[in-house]
Amino acid sequence: MRKPIMAGNWKMNKTAHEGVELVREMMDDLTPIASVERVFCPTFLAVPDVSRAVEGTDLGVGAQNLYFEASGAYTGEVSPEMVREFCDYVIIGHSERREYFGETDKGVNRKIKAALDVGLTPIVCVGETRELREQGKTESWVRDQVVAALDGLTAEQVASLIMAYEPIWAIGTGLAATPADAEEVCGGVVRATIAELYDRATADAVRIQYGGSVSPANAYEIMSQPNVDGGLVGGASLKASDFVTIVRETARAKGLS
Ligand code: PEP
Repeated sequence: MRKPIMAGNWKMNKTAHEGVELVREMMDDLTPIASVERVFCPTFLAVPDVSRAVEGTDLGVGAQNLYFEASGAYTGEVSPEMVREFCDYVIIGHSERREYFGETDKGVNRKIKAALDVGLTPIVCVGETRELREQGKTESWVRDQVVAALDGLTAEQVASLIMAYEPIWAIGTGLAATPADAEEVCGGVVRATIAELYDRATADAVRIQYGGSVSPANAYEIMSQPNVDGGLVGGASLKASDFVTIVRETARAKGLS
């Protein structure tokens, strides 16, 4: 059985000090829910303090990005090794990075390889715009993103990473995908594409998160879907009680509480 994983993407919110406070607020409630992998993804500057704050627990820390080169004259960038010093996970190809910072499928692929090379677990984001959905192009778009992201990876590497299906129209809008839509894309597109590219065992091993307006109110239904193995949570991860409830609901949905 795939262990569910719930990651909080704090985006450009919370100073290092505020991030540590937030973690401390959640820690006692989150530590007993060991059946769900729980991960905080703060800004780069908050990562070292947050990682120290979770030391001695099984709570994980992830970065929101990295650069694929190992070192050198890349002003403003952070290397895989630098991320690895403090993190076990890294979000790659979030739609906000694709939209505002010009990230391409090719760059996403290079970042995934660079992350895997240093032992980080990539959380690879894919998802369609509202326009594409309305044009009936969700399946082909997401499929193409998955194919491009995984280009050149071994089955073993693919089995170890995490995919996150994040429909762009659902991010930060309060309009989450229906549980059926989340299931259809996570299972019928992302997992099916991996099965086609690799094999059934690899596809069955990959964990696939849903992201987009996950909340305490909808977490149970969405996380109950068999091909949804957790979530990537933005807004609701900034409120301790909401994130804790979402993690609890995930454990309940998977029959693990
Ligand atoms: C995200 O940005 O990854 C996200 C899913 O945001 P939100 O939960 O706020 O929709």
